[in-house]
Amino acid sequence: MSPGGSRQPMRVLFVANEVAPFAKVGGLADVAGSLPPALAELGVDVSVVMPLHQQVPTDAHGESALDALEVTAPHETRRASVLEAELGDAGVPVYLIRYGPYFDRPEVYGPGGGDYPDSPQRYAFFARAALALIPALGLDPHVIHCHDWPTGLLPAFERLSPTGRPTVYTIHNLGYQGQFDLDVAPRIGIDPASQAMRLVQFEGRINYMAAAIRSATVLSTVSVRYAHEIQTPDFGEGLDGLLRGRAADLYGILNGIDDAQWDPATDPALPAHFSRGAMAGKQVCKAALQREMGLPLDPDVPVVGAITRLVWQKGLDVLAQVLPRAVKLPIQFVLLGTGEPALEDSYRLLARRYPEQMAINIRYDDGLARRIYAGSDIFVMPSRYEPCGLGQMMSMAYGTVPVVQATGGLADTVVEASAEPTGFVFYGLAADDLLFALERAVLAFRDRPRWEKLVARCMAQDFSWTESARRYVDLYETAIARHGCRR
Ligand code: ADP
Repeated sequence: MSPGGSRQPMRVLFVANEVAPFAKVGGLADVAGSLPPALAELGVDVSVVMPLHQQVPTDAHGESALDALEVTAPHETRRASVLEAELGDAGVPVYLIRYGPYFDRPEVYGPGGGDYPDSPQRYAFFARAALALIPALGLDPHVIHCHDWPTGLLPAFERLSPTGRPTVYTIHNLGYQGQFDLDVAPRIGIDPASQAMRLVQFEGRINYMAAAIRSATVLSTVSVRYAHEIQTPDFGEGLDGLLRGRAADLYGILNGIDDAQWDPATDPALPAHFSRGAMAGKQVCKAALQREMGLPLDPDVPVVGAITRLVWQKGLDVLAQVLPRAVKLPIQFVLLGTGEPALEDSYRLLARRYPEQMAINIRYDDGLARRIYAGSDIFVMPSRYEPCGLGQMMSMAYGTVPVVQATGGLADTVVEASAEPTGFVFYGLAADDLLFALERAVLAFRDRPRWEKLVARCMAQDFSWTESARRYVDLYETAIARHGCRR
């Protein structure tokens, strides 16, 4: 892979706040952990940079790469150090910025999924540290690929630098923009009278996402549908005007999943393995899940799974309203998730009311997530909006049929009204429509030959990175080509 048709490999620096398996809060980590190895397979020379969060296990810290990285801002200089670990079989280098005062914290983002009071400083520092790393390690990337609001200032800094490089900025979730009061400007080293301030200020606040949308050479988001949706007032979270202004530079590329990591034929977290054409292990996984969850062992009742952050976006409030009726279909329901305390409480209450039919797990647990993907029959994602969504892809890979609201990546990956359906789709988040979609799924489940075909079709979907990684390479070429024009 070579930039602009030259013979050298394309060099890309990937900058993200969470990268699986080092630290994961949601889907961003899955993408940042699986796209770079897929790019490396295409011949891209890719390195990843992330903060050394407290969550990164000590045995994953790797080797020391730099004892001292001077991170200089107009108002201060701080000294970090850098560790180098590896990602995937290709050994993609992952540079972990070690700076305890900002990143040695119990939560990646902040308490209860919110921000820490000094989040603006933490991520202004991270953006500057990632840029300082380039000369310090002699990386010389052709393109810098940034992800979501914690990296939002980086494209702005590069745009303002006379030696700035092409930047690609990927929006994984427009709902989290990094918005702060204007008076933090001096604390993040931005002079209120400067050009930088004009890039970061949006409607009376500092907005890291807006800064990146204005500044990056090209923009992308994680499904074609979401790329269109975010240009409308309904989904634009106030930034739709800015995004429409950059429509010509905004692309939708569907996320993939790492098909080696998410394979029911080999997943070490499962009590039994299975694959298309050899499905007996799925029944074993279902019985084991029912046992683990304390639910009656019954192969004939469909198990409906949900694995999600418990936040407004995910529509779990509407699901909670529907469940007392849905259990009568009948179904068993298994939830794994954490998030807003009120939602957590409403699910705990449901579990107490329906102990024979609901198992509620309020925690983060990767192994249990895998056993739920494998042991459920149906997977429900009633999201209000969903940029891409990985849960529906993981469930399909594990032979579990998704029930989804038709939005963003869910609409791009699950079809019902088709000669070749892959799940059940409802439109708008009305409780009755969600219930009706669950009812259709349960009816289909009772028709064994039909269900087996549906499950086999789900498992045959190709959600690997191959195609999407190629699209990112094209996007990097586009960024390089347009860089000169935007300067
Ligand atoms: P988002 O990024 O908005 O959280 P996605 O569907 O894109 O949603 O990705 C969610 C990822 O996080 C999936 O890999 C899912 O399995 C995982 N996940 C979410 N909650 C939990 C949890 N409580 N325990 C384990 N894995 C979880």
